[in-house]
Amino acid sequence: MGVVANIEAIKKQLPGHVTLVAVTKTKPEEMILEAYHSGHRDFGENKVQDLVSKQENLPDDIRWHMIGHLQSNKVKYLASFVHLIHGVDSLKLLNVINKEAQKHDRIIDCLLQVHIALEETKFGLSGEELLALIGSESFGQMENVRIRGVMGMATYTENIEQIRGEFRLLKRIFEELKTSAISGGEYFDQLSFGMSGDYQLAVEEGSTMVRIGSLIFGSRNY
Ligand SMILES: *Cc1c(COP(=O)(O)O)cnc(C)c1O
Repeated sequence: MGVVANIEAIKKQLPGHVTLVAVTKTKPEEMILEAYHSGHRDFGENKVQDLVSKQENLPDDIRWHMIGHLQSNKVKYLASFVHLIHGVDSLKLLNVINKEAQKHDRIIDCLLQVHIALEETKFGLSGEELLALIGSESFGQMENVRIRGVMGMATYTENIEQIRGEFRLLKRIFEELKTSAISGGEYFDQLSFGMSGDYQLAVEEGSTMVRIGSLIFGSRNY
């Protein structure tokens, strides 16, 4: 199947409130345009350099999602246009995003990345780090970032129940933050989890944003 048919097949299974972020990393701009011309607007990249060069070459009304690990010193390259930063995992990074957003006189939407997987290598805040970040003095004073929710990546495993448990943990953390720590909770409404292999499960468990690459664009050759 082609890109457009793949997107349509996936969208047909998603409830209306779930956003499909088409993950285009390593894929050529022609493929992105194919999806764009069918009406799709939300695209995700995990490397700043690729995100920036694709944004420069492609239509302005694409909503670009930064889904990968983001280093503080690279925020300046995407601050003028990024739609949502999924992987905020430190107060330092959030401070830099706030400062760069201010320079462009805009508010940047962010998700806090929570570590839910068994692997040590996946990025994200631990529960303790999350509370420390939210409880910190500067967190409440940032006027150019808006925390829209949480993001997580499950363990790479065939074990569905393991993945389900991790998704549930993330959902529970989201609910706890929403009712307690995060003020201005009307904007705190996004849960970014689920990829090609587990997006249906993710939707069952409350995801509002699935990030899907290979199922749309084919497998990647790095
Ligand atoms: C690559 C990537 C995805 C998409 O992965 P697929 O398995 O190809 O759907 C989702 N989220 C992040 C953070 C990624 O880096």
